[in-house]
Amino acid sequence: MISDKMHKAINNQINAELWSAYLYLAMAMDAEAKALKGIAKWFFVQWLEEQDHARIFENYLNSQGAKVVLKPIAEVPQEWRDPLDMFKDTLDHEKEVTRMIHDLVRLAIEEQDFATLSRLQWFVDEQVEEEENASGQVSDFEKAGKDSAMLFRLDCMLGDRQYKKAEPLTDK
Ligand code: MG
Repeated sequence: MISDKMHKAINNQINAELWSAYLYLAMAMDAEAKALKGIAKWFFVQWLEEQDHARIFENYLNSQGAKVVLKPIAEVPQEWRDPLDMFKDTLDHEKEVTRMIHDLVRLAIEEQDFATLSRLQWFVDEQVEEEENASGQVSDFEKAGKDSAMLFRLDCMLGDRQYKKAEPLTDK
């Protein structure tokens, strides 16, 4: 069993993960509209991954006998100046998600909730990867600047990204 406070906090995190999914879907749509097919593909994969994150928390609440309560998903931005702008927003957003995950870790420690702490460890590691990826894209697009050949190459490279189901869901 988990506490009501932890139940509520994880419910909020499910909403935040779905908001992230919605944000990246909006980025994919904006990239599609601008014929940036590779970038659109990259954000589509990101959209799928965020839904996995929500699913992992949903499964966890279910396994703890705590019902998931879905809340409305707030509006997301719809347009970005260029790919650099998109990836800067992605990095800022992932830093914010890291802070949220760390707040959950702090709460689990405070409550001596070792099961939740164990589940959260995957997210702590995942956030390191999310920030590393986003900051890599920011630095690549900064280097490319306005060089259209470089921008074209980056778009092609990002289009190679393949979706892989998150490890905690592979046996579900
Ligand atoms: Mg996430």
